[in-house]
Amino acid sequence: QAKGGGRATFRFYTEALTIAANARVKLETQLRRGIEQQEFVLHFQPLISMAESRITGVEALVRWRSPAEGELVPPARFIPLAEETGLIVPLGDWVLRTACRQMMRWLKEDNRLTCMAVNLSSVQFRQPDVAERVESALEESGLPAHFLELEITESGLMEFGPEAEAKLDALKMLGVRLAIDDFGTGYSSLAYLRRFPIDKLKVDQSFVRDIPADSAAIEIAAAVVALGKTLHLEVLAEGVETKAQCDLLQRLGCNTAQGYLFDRPLSAIDLTDKWLR
Ligand code: C2E
Ligand code: MG
Ligand code: MG
Ligand code: MG
Repeated sequence: QAKGGGRATFRFYTEALTIAANARVKLETQLRRGIEQQEFVLHFQPLISMAESRITGVEALVRWRSPAEGELVPPARFIPLAEETGLIVPLGDWVLRTACRQMMRWLKEDNRLTCMAVNLSSVQFRQPDVAERVESALEESGLPAHFLELEITESGLMEFGPEAEAKLDALKMLGVRLAIDDFGTGYSSLAYLRRFPIDKLKVDQSFVRDIPADSAAIEIAAAVVALGKTLHLEVLAEGVETKAQCDLLQRLGCNTAQGYLFDRPLSAIDLTDKWLR
């Protein structure tokens, strides 16, 4: 009896694993084809200067127009697999080139935007030629480097330990701006942070979400903002959804905010219509 049950359980698990593995292979094939067929689109979310309540930049966020799905597929559903398979490298190159080209278009019509922020996966960051790839996106588009900001997550950065410094220096040499994304979630070594050529900290939305109800979240946000100020960095609050959060974060000393209170990520056309008229 027990033996049979054990065998049945085993079969159930292997079947479940096979189904999961097949789904993965299928998604990888679709992703590979999607990159070749250019099925990806960028959306852009405004970055708002708190002092002046106006747009100063945008963050580029990738979506997948997969023919297998009705609507745009969010990055959480394909970035992890793209990172595991290395497909994030060609996909990330496309994102960089497309974002730089779009920023050039906006700069020709408008002088309000000073920053195009692009997420750089730790897998991209690890490539020996990452600086050359960024440089070629800049050259191809003609975008002056200081308009481009590369976002690297705190956890992605700290994986590298002291080696991250030389990598960041090589990127910084291009003249781009560097931001640490999802800050507060990744156990930063303060000793490294002080040495890194970073321009901005993005306070993770998990802290912002619990403001102003949770006093611990307020204190963490206050500590992160204070740390950023000590290091002479710009501090941006991510995921700002309410006026109360915005007011409190501004009082704590955040310079910039991003979140649904202002707008969701929009297509380039919609962003132009709503924010650059
Ligand atoms: P992230 O870089 O931290 O981007 C912020 C995410 O928060 C975006 O989700 C954005 O839509 C969402 N968000 C913005 N404001 C609010 C708000 O007020 N409330 C809430 N709840 N969410 C808000 P999205 O576009 O789904 O992207 C998720 C993550 O996927 C990004 O987090 C980033 O880590 C990754 N990602 C997106 N595009 C790229 C890319 O081109 N390359 C790489 N490597 N990663 C990307
Ligand atoms: Mg980001
Ligand atoms: Mg973030
Ligand atoms: Mg995030």
